[in-house]
Amino acid sequence: MRDAADAEPVVFILDCDNTLLDNDALKADLDAQIHALLGDARAEQFWRVYEEVRLATGTVDFPLTLERFRPILGDDPLLECVHAIIFDYPFASRLYPDTLATLRHLQTIGSPVIVSDGDIVYQPLKIARSGLAAAVDEQVAIYIHKEAHLDEIVARWSAPIYVMVDDKARILSATKARMPQRFVTVHIRQGHYGLDPHAYTPAPDLSLDAIGDLRHLSRDDLRRYLG
Ligand SMILES: [Mg+2]
Repeated sequence: MRDAADAEPVVFILDCDNTLLDNDALKADLDAQIHALLGDARAEQFWRVYEEVRLATGTVDFPLTLERFRPILGDDPLLECVHAIIFDYPFASRLYPDTLATLRHLQTIGSPVIVSDGDIVYQPLKIARSGLAAAVDEQVAIYIHKEAHLDEIVARWSAPIYVMVDDKARILSATKARMPQRFVTVHIRQGHYGLDPHAYTPAPDLSLDAIGDLRHLSRDDLRRYLG
């Protein structure tokens, strides 16, 4: 139920990959299909290019990976097929089972928005085609490193309190260190980053097994973690 109308607004800053959408499973699906299409040797070349691009740009970038992989395939028309595997993926099938119900719950106590790291072509397409963009009224922003853009984020969605939800404890720690009085940080232990045992300081305010667990938290539960 929506809290009293005069309650302070809360903005939920939600990550996409491995927070709302099972990106590890998506990538495993792509890997299996690319191996089946190209064979092991060229599939491994593809993923090497993917990692080189990720290191060079600081983010996953499939459009740039395909561009750089193109000369390796020469004139082979299989490039079109690789493109189709990646871009025509059924993204909605990889939302976590409780994702949409959780977004609806968050709308009863505040405004959920999506702030994702990623490239500016594939990542917005994934967020749109998965149904996530529509579920947050198209309130979506994409950065290379979101924690470097907190001032822009709080300027775009003005509120006294923010709840940042992410599978990467490193991002939550950097955010809490910058704005301890305004951000509550919630770690979702999903995906390979979520299970990383490295301890970041400050630790997340809350740590949950799954995105659906957010449905058990009220605005008052969250407020008590503000510095
Ligand atoms: Mg993530």
